[in-house]
Amino acid sequence: MINSYFNIFLVDFPEGDDNLEKNIEEIIEYFEEKYPDPETALNYKTPFQLLIATIMSAQTTDVQVNKVNEELFKKYKTPSDFAKLNVEELQKEIQSIGLYKNKSKYIIETSKMILEDYNGEIPKSRKELTKLPGVGRKTANVVLANAFNQETIAVDTHVFRVANRLGLVHTSNRDQVEQDLMKVVPGDYWTKFHHWLIFHGREVCKARKPRCDECELSSYCEYYQNQIKEAN
Ligand code: SF4
Repeated sequence: MINSYFNIFLVDFPEGDDNLEKNIEEIIEYFEEKYPDPETALNYKTPFQLLIATIMSAQTTDVQVNKVNEELFKKYKTPSDFAKLNVEELQKEIQSIGLYKNKSKYIIETSKMILEDYNGEIPKSRKELTKLPGVGRKTANVVLANAFNQETIAVDTHVFRVANRLGLVHTSNRDQVEQDLMKVVPGDYWTKFHHWLIFHGREVCKARKPRCDECELSSYCEYYQNQIKEAN
């Protein structure tokens, strides 16, 4: 089943890495079974609300963003609602999340730009989305994947860490992580794979203390294999 995807999308595996294709197939099979319908943990009802929630989520947990937005989105729902706020008003509403001062500024500027330049609609391309204040490549990818069903790999701290530990990529550059993952993961799986690495990073492959002893991916994991070699 998975093999057919590899044939269809002609994944271009790096030369000389014979195990990578097989490993990716088996990693995908494991994740498919463990997390069959992965979705973003951010709560939203419209693409605009997802955009705002994603801007707010930088260096803040999704749980905290959801908590704040449960009340915020009852009062303000559309670009027009947010564009009417002044920065101090919005700061008061979202002051319990990190970097709330800058985020308030970005959210109001982005809302104004969506009204003025995009007729109140969220643009559906990465090029246009990243013109919005506070919207980088990762945020754009999250919106494209979750609101518009476009296959993307948004690289957050979990995706970055787990992809490197597993040995699927070898780079400290986030944009390069995205590019390199897109070379080894079949195109039909980009969005799911992004969610899967986040879930695995939150639950098992934690930043400070990865739970390698109970990780079912340890036999594919470069970090784990290196730890074993060092111990022997
Ligand atoms: S074996 Fe350890 S480092 Fe490797 S993916 Fe699992 S938890 Fe992470």
